[in-house]
Amino acid sequence: MRSCSLAEHADTVADICKALKAAAGAPVHVDKGGVHHVVPIPGDKRHRSGRVDISALSRVVRIDAEARTCVAEPGVTFAELVAETLPLGLMPAVVPELEGITVGGAVAGCSLESLSYIYGGFHDTCVEYEVISGTGEVITLSREERPDLFEMVHGSYGTLGIVSLVTFRLIPALPFVRMEYRHCGTFAEFEAALRAATTATAAGADPGVMPVFVDAIVFGPDHLVLCLGHMVDSAPYVSDYRRDGIYYRSVAERAQDYLGTTDYLFRYDTECHWLSRTVPPLEWRPVRRLLGRWFLGSTNLIRWSRRLDRILGMRRRPDVVCDVFVPGARFAEFFDWYEAVFDFWPLWVVPYRMPQPYRWIDPDHATGLASGLAIDCAVYGKRNNRRDVDYSALLESETHRLGGIKTLIGRNHYSREDFWRIYNRDAYDAAKSELDPDAAFDDLYDKFVNDHPAT
Ligand SMILES: Cc1cc2nc3c(=O)[nH]c(=O)nc-3n(C[C@H](O)[C@H](O)[C@H](O)COP(=O)(O)OP(=O)(O)OC[C@H]3O[C@@H](n4cnc5c(N)ncnc54)[C@H](O)[C@@H]3O)c2cc1C
Repeated sequence: MRSCSLAEHADTVADICKALKAAAGAPVHVDKGGVHHVVPIPGDKRHRSGRVDISALSRVVRIDAEARTCVAEPGVTFAELVAETLPLGLMPAVVPELEGITVGGAVAGCSLESLSYIYGGFHDTCVEYEVISGTGEVITLSREERPDLFEMVHGSYGTLGIVSLVTFRLIPALPFVRMEYRHCGTFAEFEAALRAATTATAAGADPGVMPVFVDAIVFGPDHLVLCLGHMVDSAPYVSDYRRDGIYYRSVAERAQDYLGTTDYLFRYDTECHWLSRTVPPLEWRPVRRLLGRWFLGSTNLIRWSRRLDRILGMRRRPDVVCDVFVPGARFAEFFDWYEAVFDFWPLWVVPYRMPQPYRWIDPDHATGLASGLAIDCAVYGKRNNRRDVDYSALLESETHRLGGIKTLIGRNHYSREDFWRIYNRDAYDAAKSELDPDAAFDDLYDKFVNDHPAT
């Protein structure tokens, strides 16, 4: 991992500011290098404008083990970060599960994982952002200094400014994780177990007690598995799901397991959750042994899926890859609908607690999501080729009907009016006029709504 001093960081930032000023308000987009964790869409317009190269911003500036904070540039990946912090007995409180997701992408886009029922998303663990505005000025935002703008950077997907430095909190970590899998035969049993696990451990989340990781894999309406991870000092054995074994399949079969903490944090990386199964030979042991290093792992899989963009273009529509957050009170309703309409498994389920209603969501819409637990349901790879049904659009409208919100990483179908009923137009416009007054970056709706309704 590369590190740098604040002065070296400031030099790199000055170069980026110069490039932005030279663009003089012409449309640009942030190019951080590496792979993008957004769904490839034929004819994608998200990366068409001029690029501002920020790939040099990928160094750790400081880890303060005593204060449990880290200052890092946005291009640092979570795999790189964890490699630095775990030897100190620390980790970020929210580590997105794919190794190539970056600190900046997690702030500007979305991020969640199995401690999100305590901490929310990665943004909620951040204390300060340095942002380069659309006009090339450097601005510091924090929960104390311009909290209105600080909150709007989250979920702005590179449309308000460039996140150039992030200060965030770390939590204690131990070297191993003991996995406990609770297999449930009905949704009611599963929901009760999920609520009990999140209520008990969230309530007990004091600094002296190691938090319990909580997520779930639903293999079907009669096989739902709650996954509880307990950090421990030692382990009688550790399983390895990097090559031979397949993590999500192990969950369906086992009651208990042990993983190294790094392998736990990136347990879904090898298969990119379960997207590898869309190419069945990738689940065959000899193929995994022989070709795994070139094909397995989220970064490889995403690179290949982009190379196959043209083939994807020949399909009617890309597969559905999408996270939706539904208010906990309506989870059962969503699940009934999902079983009847989608019937696509596994479904990844992650409990999530917004510490307060996010400012970028319309206040009326945010209330239901922020009152109690929200549930993230992640659909990875449902085929969407039927002539008469667009599953992506169906998922979007049902999520909206239930008062939920979805991430913008895939196809989006909203009319402009509906979109700005869910997102906070006033707060977005106010932030845009301060951070990007000349509209160098695209507007959020124009950048991400890629399947306009016929109006
Ligand atoms: C298949 C798949 C699986 C996923 N699984 C998970 C998961 O397990 N856990 C999880 O938390 N998330 C998951 N995600 C979502 C992922 O965390 C978000 O899409 C995140 O925004 C990706 O960040 P990235 O670093 O890859 O950035 P990119 O994908 O390159 O960028 C994401 C957005 O952020 C903007 N951006 C990036 N860097 C900056 C910056 N420095 N300043 C301003 N804007 C910036 C970009 O313009 C872009 O709009 C998944 C996504 C996909 C497609």
